[in-house]
Amino acid sequence: MQYETVIGLEVHAQLLTGTKMFCGCSTRFGSGPNTQTCPICIGMPGVLPVMNKKAVEYVIRTGIAVDCRISSYSRFARKNYFYPDLPKGYQISQYELPLCEGGFVEIPDSGSTKKIGLTRIHLEEDAGKNIHGGANLSFVDLNRTGVPLMEIVSEPDIRTPKQAMEFMKKIRTILRYINVCDGNMEQGSLRCDANVSVRPVGQREFGTKTEMKNMNSFKFVEKALDYEIKRQIKMLADGGKIVQETRLWNAERGITESMRSKEEAHDYRYFPEPDLAPVEVEASWIEKIKADINELQDVKKARFISQFGLPEHDAELLTSERSVAEWFEQAVSLGGNPKNVSNWMMGDLMRLLNEENIPIQNCPLKPAHLVDLLKLIEDGTINRNQAKSVFVEIYKRGKVIQAAKGKMNLPALKIEVYSEVKVIDIVKEKGLAQISDESEIEAAINDILEKNPGEVERFKAGEAKLMGFFVGQAMKATKGKANPKIVNELLRKKLG
Ligand code: ADP
Ligand code: MG
Ligand code: ZN
Repeated sequence: MQYETVIGLEVHAQLLTGTKMFCGCSTRFGSGPNTQTCPICIGMPGVLPVMNKKAVEYVIRTGIAVDCRISSYSRFARKNYFYPDLPKGYQISQYELPLCEGGFVEIPDSGSTKKIGLTRIHLEEDAGKNIHGGANLSFVDLNRTGVPLMEIVSEPDIRTPKQAMEFMKKIRTILRYINVCDGNMEQGSLRCDANVSVRPVGQREFGTKTEMKNMNSFKFVEKALDYEIKRQIKMLADGGKIVQETRLWNAERGITESMRSKEEAHDYRYFPEPDLAPVEVEASWIEKIKADINELQDVKKARFISQFGLPEHDAELLTSERSVAEWFEQAVSLGGNPKNVSNWMMGDLMRLLNEENIPIQNCPLKPAHLVDLLKLIEDGTINRNQAKSVFVEIYKRGKVIQAAKGKMNLPALKIEVYSEVKVIDIVKEKGLAQISDESEIEAAINDILEKNPGEVERFKAGEAKLMGFFVGQAMKATKGKANPKIVNELLRKKLG
């Protein structure tokens, strides 16, 4: 029998607010355990939560970016359960009245695009973190307790693990574009629960689903779903039944494992949070938030294609991050040819940045450097290979200057146009300027032809590929500095 897969994701995103959802504690990642806590977020009796308006704004901003209906009236609810990382004994979340409903995102899907519907987006607080140490000891770090967490729930519109991964990627890109979540999956600021079921092709009703918790990498989402789909199909084919349960992806063993079945599932006993007033959102506030949203990726990508004549592939890559797109546009506005700028960015620049995991806004080589470099190639001062070595040198020096200034952590999206190193200085220093003086090149060529009469004869007898040999010799004789165009012209003239 043929089976079809049905997938729905619940994406959790920590919001980029400076402080927690209901208290003034910092949300910074990586501080010493339990150093960012107070009586409110560790749930002391009698304390009262105070709502973080910025967090509400970020959820609305997200809702607008993905075409949701923004609720003019929504409410928080208590979700009751016990766990050591949740000292209050309940999580403040949203239940029947979330902040946003509906909406969709578009994902790339085998050469075309596919719309994935959204059910809702709601706001809640994150729980703490249990750390299981050796010697049968476990520890609890409550720094994360109370960090604003946004949950984006998709409709069961996803049909393949690949689509699930694309959905997750798209959500990450959007959240980073609108600056509400840093999308750092390793640190857990973005993670998802993946729900999956299979059904015989042609059947209308969904099959029984299983849910895989807390996936924090694109690869795991795809792999875990792949595994789970095969497991479910095999189970059904063998005459078995799928039990509704929560499963965990074991990355080491490459399998999913049962965590708890439906019978063990919590009854959360949701009820309206009595300590918080309902949230009323005025239309004027929504308009104001809307006006502040910058151009999103899909629109920017289309514009890059039409305005700069870039191929789709380039436009996709250059708009994957707002900061990358901004770097590109800076270089173009300084006079860089769009396709040339794109080639260098996608090649040498990304390679250097990826090697050291440096975000482009901290790139030691600035847009103006690249533009200067392109000009020197264009007017024949240096060739492409020389340009590559200058490029690397500028990058290295820029890094030294940055380190000296302690400027490695520039605020996001502030891209400096120029830093102190000048392209032309490096070119001079390296003695790289190309030799375009014909008489100098001609002298070298004459010398080569004289020393290699055998090759000259064979070339004249029709061995055309020897041209490469002569060019190579000329470049060697000039230490790679001869302008290759002139070398070729002169050789062709002399060899007839
Ligand atoms: P729960 O109450 O168990 O969390 P929900 O109905 O809220 O379930 O759905 C959670 C997620 O699971 C949503 O993303 C939804 O699209 C998806 N989902 C619901 N039913 C199925 C199913 N049968 N197969 C796959 N995904 C499903
Ligand atoms: Mg669920
Ligand atoms: Zn606190």
